Amino acid sequence: MTESERYLRLKELDHAFLWHPFTQMKAWLQDDPIIIAQGEGNFLIDVLGRRFLDGVSSLWCNVHGHRKPELDAAIREQLDRIAHSTMLGLSNVPAIELAEELVAVVPKGLKRVFYSDSGAEAVEVALRMAIQYWQLSGAPQRTLFLTLTESYHGDTIGSVSLGYSEGFHRFVRPLLFPVLKVDPPLIFRLYRGLSHEQALQASLAAAKKVIEDNRERIAALVIEPMVQGAAGMWTHPAEYLRQMAAMAREAGALVIFDEVATGFGRTGRMFACEHAGVTPDFICLGKGITGGYLPLAATVTTENVFAAFLGEVEDFRAFYYGHTYTGNPLAAAVAIANLRLFRKEAILERLAPRIELLGRLLQEEFGGLEHVADIRQCGLMVGIELMQDVERKISYPPREQVGARVARAARKGGVIIRPLGNVVVLMPPLSITEDELEQLVRAVADGVKEVTQSS
Ligand SMILES: *Cc1c(COP(=O)(O)O)cnc(C)c1O
Repeated sequence: MTESERYLRLKELDHAFLWHPFTQMKAWLQDDPIIIAQGEGNFLIDVLGRRFLDGVSSLWCNVHGHRKPELDAAIREQLDRIAHSTMLGLSNVPAIELAEELVAVVPKGLKRVFYSDSGAEAVEVALRMAIQYWQLSGAPQRTLFLTLTESYHGDTIGSVSLGYSEGFHRFVRPLLFPVLKVDPPLIFRLYRGLSHEQALQASLAAAKKVIEDNRERIAALVIEPMVQGAAGMWTHPAEYLRQMAAMAREAGALVIFDEVATGFGRTGRMFACEHAGVTPDFICLGKGITGGYLPLAATVTTENVFAAFLGEVEDFRAFYYGHTYTGNPLAAAVAIANLRLFRKEAILERLAPRIELLGRLLQEEFGGLEHVADIRQCGLMVGIELMQDVERKISYPPREQVGARVARAARKGGVIIRPLGNVVVLMPPLSITEDELEQLVRAVADGVKEVTQSS
């Protein structure tokens, strides 16, 4: 079979049997999919042999590039021992060793690790632990979660309740529990025209009121620190995070940080909450935890929370929750190797100049473009918001698919990205080189010019 025969065969099978996530399949079925066969460093290689820079880290999870020798070796070595055994009633070597490694890197005070398999589950676990914690601690009326408008915490019913978005989730609305929502600073700044400082004060004042009105009923504040990823890379100042956590705590609530996207170096620090110097009661980890290799997630909490669940077996205070593949040894082994690479290669120290370079490139390439309404960057997380009319704050209508068209145009420059509506997202692996950063930014800028000048 030639390469192109193989491609056509795979395309036929994909179209016959697959249903892709977050995808309007009618459009998919009319299109020629890119079918990935291999990876090499920061590049994806498709079955036709074309190479594409992995501009969004395979949906925000890849850290050190593809086929990183140390990560490959960790899986191979573990495979020679055992691929999987259960955490229910047993323990396993990599799960134990990873817990020690995780506790060493998360903010001090967090020291109990509960594993699951996806970011949504890591959040779900934190919610369930928080709710149970309050019932076990004599405050059963604390059942409300406070979240930010357009936050995203994953796709289980619990995490969708927190991060409800009309366009995506309206069909499950009858199943969702109510939450308290407050607008983050970006809404006040970008859509209501306030300055950075005014937006910070206005968003805090609004949150203060909601917290005061529900003082005794809030179980926890749940927040994506520094960057609300799926909202469209909505950034907020460290001061906002500090104040929100302080207000929640002052009202007696717990604090849950969803670092599924921001964790493991993506913002330039190991965890985004380090920018604000705030330690939560729960940190939810996923995506980059295995370097982007295997599904694994973790919820790390305090001894205080943990202690509330202790009791006699017959008291049924235990946390009755878990999944079959929880603490999977292969995934834990590669996660350990991931953390070792952070140390061995001094990843964070070496990242700083490239974060700066990225900032300069973004200004150079996008700063002067007519339809660029906002350029947001926190570390290697970037959102470039496009508007039809920047001055009058008129968004492009969804049917124009501006973000998706930019992503498609960027392929000509050898780059794969995936947008969030009208926000063009860049989130390369931490291993991206300076030359590759330039390729990425230029290819995307060319795409933006091509699409916005013809719209
Ligand atoms: C991706 C993401 C999740 C969900 O993670 P999955 O592994 O896709 O379930 C949760 N929270 C945030 C902030 C995310 O970006």
